[in-house]
Amino acid sequence: MLTNDQLAKWDRESFFHPSTHLGQFARGEAAQRIVTGGEGVFITDRDGNRLLDGFAGLYCVNVGYGRAEIAEAIATQARELSYYHSYAGHGSEASITLSKMVMDRAPEGMARVYFGLGGSDANETNIKLVWYYNNILGRPEKKKIISRWRGYHGSGLMTGSLTGLDLFHRKFDLPLSQVIHTEAPYHFRHPDPTMSEADFTAHCVAKLEELIAAEGADTIAAFIGEPVLGTGGIVPPPAGYWPAIKAVLDRHDILLILDEVVTGFGRLGSMFGAGHYGVQPDLITCAKGLTSAYAPLSASIVGQRMWDVLMQGTDENGVLGHGWTYSAHPIGAAAGIANLKLIDDLGLVENAGTVGRYLNETMRAAVGDHVHVGEVRGEGMLCAVELVADRDKRSFFDAAEGKGAKVVAAMLKRGVIARAMPQGDILGFAPPLCLTQAEADQIVAVTKDSIAEVLG
Ligand code: PLP
Repeated sequence: MLTNDQLAKWDRESFFHPSTHLGQFARGEAAQRIVTGGEGVFITDRDGNRLLDGFAGLYCVNVGYGRAEIAEAIATQARELSYYHSYAGHGSEASITLSKMVMDRAPEGMARVYFGLGGSDANETNIKLVWYYNNILGRPEKKKIISRWRGYHGSGLMTGSLTGLDLFHRKFDLPLSQVIHTEAPYHFRHPDPTMSEADFTAHCVAKLEELIAAEGADTIAAFIGEPVLGTGGIVPPPAGYWPAIKAVLDRHDILLILDEVVTGFGRLGSMFGAGHYGVQPDLITCAKGLTSAYAPLSASIVGQRMWDVLMQGTDENGVLGHGWTYSAHPIGAAAGIANLKLIDDLGLVENAGTVGRYLNETMRAAVGDHVHVGEVRGEGMLCAVELVADRDKRSFFDAAEGKGAKVVAAMLKRGVIARAMPQGDILGFAPPLCLTQAEADQIVAVTKDSIAEVLG
């Protein structure tokens, strides 16, 4: 292995890191971590640190690190058939088997699964399919996509536009004109603290109705949303939100894309957010938990009413002009099969529900009354602690103070990784679904001590 100093130097000089302050990193002012291994919920780095990964990488290593079953499946697949494409009816045993496994787990009413590589490209696929669908139905004006402020759907041109976070738009000339944003279902941040949850749901619905009326329903193709807002702050929806939104969409013949890149395959304690919140989507976007990030793979699960029109489209126009070289890559598919089996065998969907609830309850008990904690919230194995300047006035710290990032840095010193969410002082937790209660206790204890260190 290269000496630490060589790696560190090459890293600063050669590697363009995503989502990184490029200047500070190149000059050696921003931290660098070279990760060397992982086991269960822990990672190790080249400096000998062993860290409890309270964010499962980027909420993706759902089965935990170091699973030999998945490593073996990948190695076996690489030896037998490292690659063949999936165009024009080609497939591998792995890609076909995984299709069947995904469809067996998908909510009712879904018809087929298309495989890509990551969440961004899966959303890109979904938007193209929505546009194709409306062209085949002879309504070429019905193309706009409604997303939510604070939604996260990727960082490509279209998907970065769908994302409703300023950082992903600023200086990139985004969002593109086909994308419009509506209110985030973020009760805690609504300016009127006396508004009940039910009234807030009604308010979100009214905002959506207003937007549809202003733009014209005949110009709007689809609505995209994460079952639980993720990168925008880890915010479960207010009670009744999804059925109420879906009723509006149905009334205006607008498709629903549920972006389940984070929630798919168990993170909420249910297989999918669709079932968890009782809502029927037309398209489901999956990635992360599909392979627990042992290999890159995404999935666009297409509902029956869209599938029928897509088939009509190819009958009328020939082959569907959409696909990637690496669609349904056999190595990703092999990882997916082994991963989904492990999720079943270890009962991880159930564990996400029970230990996730424990994590949220113990977190609330430990820090919920702190003068600078405004809200502890979560669902399944997702948890967030929102920091505030003043609890009673519900006022927030100046972003430049970086309070959330400081608490996360203090946690790192104590051996636990949390994520400072990008908009607001919000500590985010999304541990592997195999988290134990003892590990949840460690996360909570470290959060409490670190908040006390930074905020008193
Ligand atoms: N959708 C959601 C809900 C996500 O959280 C993410 C990534 O975090 C994406 C899409 C984009 O996925 P990727 O980073 O694999 O392109």
